[in-house]
Amino acid sequence: MQVLRQSQLFQHCSRYGNYVALDSNCLFCKIITEDIPAHIVLRNENVVAFNDINPQAPTHVLIVPTLHVENAAALAKVSPTLTADLFLAAAQIAQTNGLTGYRTVFNTGEEAGQSVFHAHLHLLGGRGLAWPPG
Ligand code: AMP
Ligand code: ZN
Repeated sequence: MQVLRQSQLFQHCSRYGNYVALDSNCLFCKIITEDIPAHIVLRNENVVAFNDINPQAPTHVLIVPTLHVENAAALAKVSPTLTADLFLAAAQIAQTNGLTGYRTVFNTGEEAGQSVFHAHLHLLGGRGLAWPPG
């Protein structure tokens, strides 16, 4: 599994233009570079996925772009294809885990429960999921 160090990542993501690839103060950027440990379940050029430290379901994976942007809308603006990559990774992880149904969620803003301001897609599954959510 290839690990990108912070110094490499800007060059790696240069196709996204002038955006800062990594924020040295960001928890998820540090997980991407493996400066902070996490249980990583999928990694490719565009996406890193790891188990949530406080799981809300038997499967609770966070899927993040290897690019520091604040939320889903900012990510969609920078790269619609990278946004799609997160959902494709979710489908792949769900299949690997044998999930027949699952939920994908982006929280945007503190009022909606966003606590880490690096866009991340929650993948939840492995139990019945109520609707509407709390
Ligand atoms: P959100 O509240 O939508 O911003 O989601 C942030 C998620 O990150 C929460 O579900 C946390 O449990 C999770 N989280 C926080 N720190 C870590 C960590 N070190 N490793 C894995 N997940 C984390
Ligand atoms: Zn970040």
